[in-house]
Amino acid sequence: MKAVVFKNKKISVTDVPMPVPSENEALVKIHLAGICATDVELLKGYHDFAGIPGHEFIGIVHCAPDQPGLEGRRIVADINCGCGVCDICLTGDQRHCANRGVIGIRARNGAFAEYCNIPLSNLYVVPDSIEDESAVFAEPLAAALEIVRQVHVTERSRVAVLGDGKMGLLCALVLQQFAPNTVLIGHHPDKLSIAGEQGVRTIFRSKNETDQNLAVHVKDFELVVEASGCANGINEAICMVRPEGTVVIKTTSFEKSVIDFSAVVVNELNLIGSRCGDIAQALDFMEKKMIDFCPMIEAVYSLGDFEKAFAHAGRKGSLKILIGNKNE
Ligand SMILES: [Zn+2]
Ligand SMILES: [Zn+2]
Repeated sequence: MKAVVFKNKKISVTDVPMPVPSENEALVKIHLAGICATDVELLKGYHDFAGIPGHEFIGIVHCAPDQPGLEGRRIVADINCGCGVCDICLTGDQRHCANRGVIGIRARNGAFAEYCNIPLSNLYVVPDSIEDESAVFAEPLAAALEIVRQVHVTERSRVAVLGDGKMGLLCALVLQQFAPNTVLIGHHPDKLSIAGEQGVRTIFRSKNETDQNLAVHVKDFELVVEASGCANGINEAICMVRPEGTVVIKTTSFEKSVIDFSAVVVNELNLIGSRCGDIAQALDFMEKKMIDFCPMIEAVYSLGDFEKAFAHAGRKGSLKILIGNKNE
């Protein structure tokens, strides 16, 4: 089968052997897969990943010898594959298993390929009412919804999302459903307008504005979600949150952050890291059609054109780039 392989900071699109599902795994034919900022970081060397990347996807179960009833069903997946036997896995949350594989990110091949093996317990059948172009956002949507599982957000909460990239947009659109006063702050008028058209309050900030200026204009939020994608975003977020407030950190960058902890100590701030969420909850949320995902899709490329697609996804200001595989 055709697949994208990352190795030694290089991309190749090549023929690889067709994966064979192990016990309790399904072989999934990938329909659509999204390129995420994490993929860009993986190629730079994040996690020392070598193999087939791709962790945002929708596909159809091609064969599932241990659960044939799933064959032909449209699915999305939880990307964390725990060992199944450690204390953490036995509590039912494999996201933090020390020996986990993560589809397309850590020790497991991903979805930038014609087919991908996925453990049966990670699969979620997609309701018919959700089209592929929305369902492909299930993984990042679950990650955005994770915030409201970690922090108590109410109608009165003053919430800001820092960064109008792909994750920032999703976080703002989700948080707005819980805290109508949510503000999205970013550098790109066109991206801000995508959230603005769906009712999110937005603030444009020029790139030349200093952190101090930012603190004067936008401050005293109870919750700031740092989704800037930049190593220094955390320091901006710390300037924007009120004493005893919370910063939720979404950025994962290969470049290390240098944090001024004195403000965290003096203002008694809570810093919370936030990664993957619950796919079932994301599908529920999608069924309610509260977010229009279409304006977030910038282009769809074929698997064979992956390098072009990846270059496009790496351009500053690009929205979601998808790899379509349905008709190949
Ligand atoms: Zn991602
Ligand atoms: Zn485990």
